[in-house]
Amino acid sequence: MNCIFCRIAAGEIPANIVYKDEYMVCFRDLNPQAPVHVLIIPRKHIVSLGETEAEDHKILGHIMEKVRTLATELGLMDGVDGGFRLVSNCGEEAGQSVLHLHFHLMGGRRFSWPPG
Ligand code: 5GP
Ligand code: ZN
Repeated sequence: MNCIFCRIAAGEIPANIVYKDEYMVCFRDLNPQAPVHVLIIPRKHIVSLGETEAEDHKILGHIMEKVRTLATELGLMDGVDGGFRLVSNCGEEAGQSVLHLHFHLMGGRRFSWPPG
């Protein structure tokens, strides 16, 4: 297995893990772009949102439903101005550098729009 995120999910290489269950793993990004920057990955090797299969709906739904809990536990929903950004870069043009589906869950600062 030469996929770095599969290896993190399998515990073969270390990561600062925030949460894990049978479908997904959440860990701190090595190069954070915000005070809170975690990556959420499915344990299953799915390349990107451009390559999901119908059978992946359970995994994807599970991850989306966990975002709220993770954001709350990471303190991103605190106060009246709480919030977060969830991003998944799909393909080279969008800036995807690791070819295992991941969602960037980021917060703790104000973000601008549109992204670069
Ligand atoms: P992408 O550019 O594909 O949207 O995001 C890949 C992210 O993975 C980047 O933010 C990068 O910092 C992070 N990353 C790459 N390799 C590792 C690693 O080995 N460990 C961790 N924790 N993050 C990584
Ligand atoms: Zn993988």
